[in-house]
Amino acid sequence: MYDTNNIFAKIIRKEIPSKLIYEDDQVIAFHDLHPVAPIHALIIPKGQYTDYLHFIETAPSETQIYFFQKVASLAKELCGEHFRLCTNNGSASGQTIFHFHMHIIGGKQLGGL
Ligand code: AMP
Repeated sequence: MYDTNNIFAKIIRKEIPSKLIYEDDQVIAFHDLHPVAPIHALIIPKGQYTDYLHFIETAPSETQIYFFQKVASLAKELCGEHFRLCTNNGSASGQTIFHFHMHIIGGKQLGGL
């Protein structure tokens, strides 16, 4: 069940501030509040999807393609050829905000997972 009062929904509605990187009618990207590397961005679709599986199982194909192409272009723009993409799916994985988001992490030599 999607909670319309989650933090990222509030960022989309501009009810709370974010360090914006990119925005259009379908996606928004901003800097993570607690970065784990010099570059740590979050990119999210504007639609109401709780997690990766919800997005894959219910979003139209064009929406999915658009999102993942934006992930790639933003990752390349921010990090060049060296970056880590990560998404947590479900609370046991570590997901804390239940609006689907992809972490883009880079800007240094990353250690193992
Ligand atoms: P996850 O644990 O995968 O759900 O990731 C949630 C991420 O959101 C964490 O890396 C947090 O540091 C980040 N975060 C929480 N609140 C904010 C906020 N207001 N602005 C930007 N990032 C946030």
